[in-house]
Amino acid sequence: MTEAVYRLGARAGGSRLSVASVRRPCGVCRPRAREQVAAANSVCIVRAQLLRQPAPVDRHPLEVADLPDPLPVDGEVLIEVEACGVCRTDLQLVEGDLTAHRLPIVPGHQIVGRVVAIGPGGDEALVGQRVGVAWLASTCGQCRFCRSGRENLCDSARFTGWDRDGGFATLVTARSEFVYLLPGDVQAVSAAPLLCGGAIGYRSLRIAGVGPADPDSQPGTLGLFGFGASATCAIQVARYWGWEVYVATRSEREQDRARSLGAVWAGSYDDRVPEDLDAAVTFAPAGAVVIKALESVRKGGTVAINAIHLDHIPEFAYEKLWWERSLRSVANVTRADVWELLALAVRIPIETQVERFSLEAAGEALLALRDGAVSGAAVLEL
Ligand SMILES: [Zn+2]
Ligand SMILES: [Zn+2]
Repeated sequence: MTEAVYRLGARAGGSRLSVASVRRPCGVCRPRAREQVAAANSVCIVRAQLLRQPAPVDRHPLEVADLPDPLPVDGEVLIEVEACGVCRTDLQLVEGDLTAHRLPIVPGHQIVGRVVAIGPGGDEALVGQRVGVAWLASTCGQCRFCRSGRENLCDSARFTGWDRDGGFATLVTARSEFVYLLPGDVQAVSAAPLLCGGAIGYRSLRIAGVGPADPDSQPGTLGLFGFGASATCAIQVARYWGWEVYVATRSEREQDRARSLGAVWAGSYDDRVPEDLDAAVTFAPAGAVVIKALESVRKGGTVAINAIHLDHIPEFAYEKLWWERSLRSVANVTRADVWELLALAVRIPIETQVERFSLEAAGEALLALRDGAVSGAAVLEL
């Protein structure tokens, strides 16, 4: 535990400093003496889902653990978590498909909560604010990527729930310049899926060349291959910008959901998309789907691959790429992506479809995600 002393905000408390949450008496740790608790570097605890060793989710690798309160150091805020989205990346980390950067680790990188304390010298205006925390936890701010608006490519980037403890917990710390102020009345479970799935879906659209339609030209045609939480946000943004959206996904339930969100066509990966596409985004972590998407785009079209982890892409004839078609991957998001998406989410407004789980049921949420049993996004509600 660090030696940092931190200040508590007006709304500090809740489970964090209640008598029941104190692991052992620290002499001053009483609900009525919260400031003293903070100053005394107390042993209050945070309840978290901890990953000690990756394993298939049916072997329940996450365990509920009581950890020492995280203390915000210089430039950090302490956040009382209200909700945390469960992302496919969490599943890949927990199962070991994504190599752990450190163990044990608390996963979770789509966090909505309230700032309850700040580190020394921090901006006191943040205390009491509702904020979001996303995948990008910090960057170097100096490299060629950081200096050219591409901080998502920074070699020194650190990630929430991978390099530092994430939001499958009652409390989490974050760098203050990497939190996103949210409207005070935002519903935590609805906002959480925007912070990763939504933001990376948004970046994928931009990488694929999708933007606000020119009113004088024909509407663009966009294909979404796979229809989970990320695509659910992407279709709403693309429709708002005036694009016609075609959705390919295995599940008939998801095809129905795509139609209900305005897709002009929804079918399976084996069906032929009935229109040539100007752009496509693939969400399914399968190389064969990338080829399907490439076969569906017209000359000059771009396929953006929205996947942090993908099996190999099968060999394909150059004719499929010829005529200036492009194939691009999407890696992480910048803070600007998150800001832009959050602004759009308010304006459109974006509807998120969530299934709620308790913190204790994080393992069940991951199982449901693995089995394709989540419609929309899985969110832990604290
Ligand atoms: Zn994610
Ligand atoms: Zn950098």
